[in-house]
Amino acid sequence: MNLIEFIEKFRTDEECYEHLAKIKSKVICQKCGTTMYRLSHSRKYQCRKFSCNHQQTLKCGTIFYRSSTPLHKWFLAMYFIANSKKWLSSNQLARQIRVTYKTAWRMMQQIRKLMKEDLPMFKWISEVDETYVGGRVKWWWNNGWQRNKTMVVWILNRDTGKIKATIGKSATEEFLTTFIFANVEKHSRICSDERRWYRNLSLCYQHDTVCHSRWERAVGDVYTNTLEWFWSLLKRGIRWIYHRVSKQWMQAYVDEFVWRYNNRKEDNLFGLLLNKV
Ligand SMILES: [Zn+2]
Repeated sequence: MNLIEFIEKFRTDEECYEHLAKIKSKVICQKCGTTMYRLSHSRKYQCRKFSCNHQQTLKCGTIFYRSSTPLHKWFLAMYFIANSKKWLSSNQLARQIRVTYKTAWRMMQQIRKLMKEDLPMFKWISEVDETYVGGRVKWWWNNGWQRNKTMVVWILNRDTGKIKATIGKSATEEFLTTFIFANVEKHSRICSDERRWYRNLSLCYQHDTVCHSRWERAVGDVYTNTLEWFWSLLKRGIRWIYHRVSKQWMQAYVDEFVWRYNNRKEDNLFGLLLNKV
């Protein structure tokens, strides 16, 4: 959907609401979990269970709940965020849709929640790598100067071209292997560098390593270059737009970045987001 089509389709709050009602075929009662039906000539939905009799609007249980921002601004924000090739800052969004900086920031955090993906287990061949992003050098009384950075673990599946990522405190064997076991199917192939926290992967996987300490980049098809290119992009993005990102929000930023990458071939990115509302 291009911008002209988008503007023609979603001019008013009413049009956005009706579209949302159309794509949300099933509305679930927040009180008892029964399906609901829409009352005629109203935005309200009524619970089918006689003893419950609960009424609610379509916004309940979505990211729009309890937001006083009109729905067409929400839709615009989602359109901009979904279609921006690079990172969009809260300041830019605030100016585009005419809301305050604080509102724009909150909207972005909500929209990022929709970007969390639930991909199936990876098969065949995957690359694993970890990196540290964000943060500043800080003085700690008991530990001296330390970088307050967040670790991000990435797994890239070469078969589907998709990425999964999570954040953690530091690279420990336990943390990394738990994440890999939960996301990569056993007996498939994994490429990583030869750091100590990956050494036990060969028990469950066909594990190939590249030795970065000997300046090896790739041996045949054993490499992690795709991932290294990917996280260098993330680091640059964070430096340009956000300057620094606190640990609290890092997972959301990483999710957004991964979502953009995983859906790079998708045409209707706005529709993709709206379906997850
Ligand atoms: Zn109910």
